[in-house]
Amino acid sequence: MNNKAIATPGRTKDILAKAGFSFKKSLGQNFLVDVNILKNMLCHAGISENTAAIEIGPGIGALTEQLALHAGSVTAFEIDQRLVPILEEELSSFENATIINEDILKADIDQVVRELARDHEEVRVVANLPYYITTPILMRLLMDRLPFQSITVMIQKEVAERMAASPGTKSYGSLSIAVQYYTEASIPMTVPKSVFMPQPNVDSAVLHLEKRAEPPVDVQDEDFFFEIVRASFKQRRKTLINNLGSFFKGSLEKSEIRERMEGSGIDPGRRGESLSMEEFAKLADVFHKVK
Ligand code: SAM
Repeated sequence: MNNKAIATPGRTKDILAKAGFSFKKSLGQNFLVDVNILKNMLCHAGISENTAAIEIGPGIGALTEQLALHAGSVTAFEIDQRLVPILEEELSSFENATIINEDILKADIDQVVRELARDHEEVRVVANLPYYITTPILMRLLMDRLPFQSITVMIQKEVAERMAASPGTKSYGSLSIAVQYYTEASIPMTVPKSVFMPQPNVDSAVLHLEKRAEPPVDVQDEDFFFEIVRASFKQRRKTLINNLGSFFKGSLEKSEIRERMEGSGIDPGRRGESLSMEEFAKLADVFHKVK
């Protein structure tokens, strides 16, 4: 076994050269070469020997190795078949690491999470995500209501900020509400682009999402609640009355929209970005079954 971590510039270069590996930009292949950042990330993720970790996109195993060292087990999904023999060799000393050569967007994650949850105290998702799938994969994991405790992912800083944003900030929008409906979101670390090989164009951040036992608001119809949220942010600079006026065009007069809003205590002249999740819940319920 090699004593030096995979997540170091020297070892990464050696592994890549030995395999004659060339990066595929379209798969978001930016490998981490700073082991301290990964160790820090695992602390924030709450990994212990009781954790079954699920990783998305192990690359050459930089994070997988740290998970195998600190978690009970790690199951990693990698789409790029060329990486499988490399991972098998580099992680050969870890009996608790399993590599699945599949596209995470097509894989049966539900079954994998449920099986791991049956045999382990807790399941946590940890990944340095390929950025092109950030939103679809996170939303799928959250909306499927699977039995895992948390998601800790390295993603584009700007997207992390949107997901964890509070009302009244520039980053706050329908994505913040979608994510925070299911989880408590925080950004424990930002990560400079210099710790990746090759370097991406933008800085990254670690986003930690701790699953909520229950949503923080009670709404009559979840799908409609999210529709109202999206409609309220459709044109950010417009007031709620104007955005909702377009949304209800043909089914409600503006005067009635105004009346209903006032009845629920929400000023029609406000903008979506100033509303808390509780206020969006009130707004959705006051229009429930109109559309
Ligand atoms: N975890 C490694 C690290 O931290 O160095 C690599 C991270 S790299 C940003 C993203 C990895 O995800 C790449 O190995 C890429 O091949 C893989 N990947 C890209 N799309 C994927 C998908 N749809 N399903 C599974 N893996 C994917």
